[in-house]
Amino acid sequence: MRAWVQNDKETRGGWAEIDEVVPGDGEALIRVTHSAINYKDGLALTGTSPIFRSFPMVPGIDVAGVVEHDPSGRMAPGTDVVITGHGMGETRWGGYAEKLAVPADWLIAIPSSMSNEHAAAIGTAGLTAALCLDALEDHGVRPDSGPMVITGASGGVGGYAVALAATAGFDVKAVSGRSSEKDYLMGLGASEVVDRAPFEEKPRPLGKEQWASAIDVAGGEILANVISGMQYGGAVAACGLAQSMNLPTSVAPFILRAVALLGVDSVYAPPEKRARAWGRFTPEVVKSFDPMLVREKFDAVDGLAQDLLDQKVRGRVVLSW
Ligand code: NDP
Repeated sequence: MRAWVQNDKETRGGWAEIDEVVPGDGEALIRVTHSAINYKDGLALTGTSPIFRSFPMVPGIDVAGVVEHDPSGRMAPGTDVVITGHGMGETRWGGYAEKLAVPADWLIAIPSSMSNEHAAAIGTAGLTAALCLDALEDHGVRPDSGPMVITGASGGVGGYAVALAATAGFDVKAVSGRSSEKDYLMGLGASEVVDRAPFEEKPRPLGKEQWASAIDVAGGEILANVISGMQYGGAVAACGLAQSMNLPTSVAPFILRAVALLGVDSVYAPPEKRARAWGRFTPEVVKSFDPMLVREKFDAVDGLAQDLLDQKVRGRVVLSW
């Protein structure tokens, strides 16, 4: 089968013909139709961060495909399925290959109203955005609480967060470093596009109270500035580190304004959380994502991975053969 393979730590990987995967005990065999490029895939493909944990490794955190064999009998051959996270592309082989073998209980059937392309595009990015919204709503955040600020809005997670939150009735303020994407972000449902530059300045412990809730993909000073700009009792869902892994803040917003910081992980999210999050992707909502899709071929992943890290990609790259 064709796969993008990296054989060891030192040598950069690439496309190769290798023996077809053989499913282990309890594993299903999938014919891959689509994948996507996530930030983590970008780091892995370019060798920017040590994402691969064992070798040889195939990247690709998101997979949509067709079941060839499911030993559990849960999914009939020919069923369209999506699989995201679970360490694919890090600790076990991911979706940049013609075939994939994964534990059968990881498979999620794609609803008939959704294409494989859309399922792969939503993938980890959409799931993470939905999990952020779930976390905020579980905390008691509602559309009438006040404005929601979303960082990294031109990217994958940010774009899905903007569209999902707007559909759910939130007043979305989209933070972006790209003024050129204003029309695109307003089209996804933002009520205002806010310049990223002030968020990159040295954070003060407490700033003007502006936001009732937030979804942050950036970390670093951007997240610190978001936290210091929260209204009393506000909540922030933090899921990314596009700017930095650090968080240069103080306890002031937490102990003086009762701000809540909610961590969100999609990779090892339990099945019941995943099912609830996928439930947000109704046919009407999925339709609204179309402007986000950048349709590309698997062969183009290397260049696209670098473009993604250089902030040259808008929305979500979905890959097909
Ligand atoms: P993308 O590259 O698609 O989007 C990231 C966006 O963040 C960019 O489009 C840009 O938006 C902004 N950005 C990028 N670099 C910087 C920078 N240096 N400083 C400030 N802003 C920056 O990535 P994804 O949407 O796929 O992922 C976003 C983050 O979320 C990543 O850190 C990723 O690791 C994390 N993530 C976490 C998951 C989890 O389970 N917790 C799952 C998926 C992703 P703009 O130009 O509009 O400002």
